[in-house]
Amino acid sequence: MSSVAVLIDHDRGIPSGGALEALTAARTLAAGLGAAVDAVVLGDSELFDTHGASLVAACASHGAAVVHRGRHALLADYGPDAWGAALASFVAGAQPAAVVAAGTDRGAEAMAQLAARTDLPLVANCVSVSPANDPWEITRIQWGGSLLEDVTLSSSLPLLTIAQHSVEAEPCEGGPIETVVADFAPDLGPEVERTLVRDRVTLTEGVTLSTSPVVVSGGRGVGSAEGFATLEELAELLGGRVGCSRAVTNNGWRSHADQVGQTGTRIAPEIYIACGISGAIQHWVGAMGSKNILAINIDPEANMVAKAGYAVIADLHEVVPAISDEIRRRRDRPSS
Ligand SMILES: Cc1cc2nc3c(=O)[nH]c(=O)nc-3n(C[C@H](O)[C@H](O)[C@H](O)COP(=O)(O)OP(=O)(O)OC[C@H]3O[C@@H](n4cnc5c(N)ncnc54)[C@H](O)[C@@H]3O)c2cc1C
Repeated sequence: MSSVAVLIDHDRGIPSGGALEALTAARTLAAGLGAAVDAVVLGDSELFDTHGASLVAACASHGAAVVHRGRHALLADYGPDAWGAALASFVAGAQPAAVVAAGTDRGAEAMAQLAARTDLPLVANCVSVSPANDPWEITRIQWGGSLLEDVTLSSSLPLLTIAQHSVEAEPCEGGPIETVVADFAPDLGPEVERTLVRDRVTLTEGVTLSTSPVVVSGGRGVGSAEGFATLEELAELLGGRVGCSRAVTNNGWRSHADQVGQTGTRIAPEIYIACGISGAIQHWVGAMGSKNILAINIDPEANMVAKAGYAVIADLHEVVPAISDEIRRRRDRPSS
């Protein structure tokens, strides 16, 4: 049976959310092709000794019939050349019907390497793929999410990345499937050592803006750097992070690391609280993955108010502290 091979984007053995989204999307694609879903995980012996079982379990619960483990000393950590060459080595041997990866930095980079090495076209940031006809019909996100583009792809081996947050990662119904583990030894030369990760400096510990379940974001309406104190307070009460619009970073009120949007971070929290943000398209493309949106704005016509599921039309300097006070009041209330 042919297979749709999914490159598992992982950071030293921990799969990214994007990898599980890609496996979920690959199940639909494979069903359309009458194919199975296979996973490709790259690492060295130490990585597989430590994380092999959990990686296989994650792949099995998301539908991988076979987990192909590419094992090599040069795959101890991420390297675009090494991952691209290992994938090319896998493709030459296994001959899958398609290769899919997450539209993450690593997924996109490794797939671009694979495309260059195999001289095959790569379609990046796909949101839907219809393999019913030749050529395949694909819709993908362009221009930072502000444009949906319909494309056709005619290729002996389609290579795709799945746009982040375009699919929700979902385990298979009925639990993990029976998964076979198959090892392969990629043919890697010393030239792939050109770009291997040697060390990392973590700039943000724990939950980041892109992974936080709650984001409390401020725009120009906050008025000053000091004005963010009440947003910080609310975010802390809700266990979330503070974000902002570009008007805010342009004014120097917050660092660029906090910016949500086309030229900032894409987020997909359970709740996005947008305070004093108009909702310009460049901001919206970063926030549109949010499951629920509360807009606090003095302008009932603001784009963010129109897009939000909930809105409070009032001054954020009054509303935000009032929400925090109410949360504290309810938490402090003795339970009966
Ligand atoms: C190439 C390019 C890339 C860009 N990338 C990004 C990006 O990544 N992220 C991004 O955010 N923007 C980006 N922008 C900028 C974007 O176009 C907007 O200019 C920006 O998002 C506006 O920020 P804002 O909503 O905070 O400010 P404004 O548009 O000025 O809106 C302020 C809002 O605050 C409300 N308000 C004012 N006072 C109060 C108050 N007291 N209480 C409640 N509400 C109040 C107003 O009614 C208004 O709706 C980009 C632009 C370009 C050209």
